[in-house]
Amino acid sequence: MVKLKIINWNDNNSWTDWSGHAKTQLIARMKEYGSLPLTKTKRLVRQVLERECFEIQLPKIEGAEGLRHVLESLGAEVLIESNKNTEYGFCCSRFQESVKEGKFQHTDVHDETEWFIPEWLHIYFCPFCGESIKGNGFGTYDQDGKR
Ligand SMILES: [Zn+2]
Repeated sequence: MVKLKIINWNDNNSWTDWSGHAKTQLIARMKEYGSLPLTKTKRLVRQVLERECFEIQLPKIEGAEGLRHVLESLGAEVLIESNKNTEYGFCCSRFQESVKEGKFQHTDVHDETEWFIPEWLHIYFCPFCGESIKGNGFGTYDQDGKR
């Protein structure tokens, strides 16, 4: 879960006006990246623009930067808060538990694979359920090719 928190509105910082374009942009982005149905999305956008609501939740980090940019163009000061443990769609609960225990870590930079065993090696497959968890890493190990 990712939260966008509007901590301040400053009209001097806005470089676009309230009506029209920005509202359409916000609704489109929140419909794409959020998890709410359209009517609720529209209501939330209206509440945000009328400064009645100061928090937007997204299921993933995807889209958060774009939303922040639109809000900033309206003069909002926005913080993005993400809870790493729910941000990743874990393949299974055993892996998630092991991450909590610190047995596996997620890289913050582009690396061989997304997950590694601290001070040892990167992993391509979940040791519990066998799911590929290489992610966007640059590693080339191919399990099927070795069979
Ligand atoms: Zn797993």
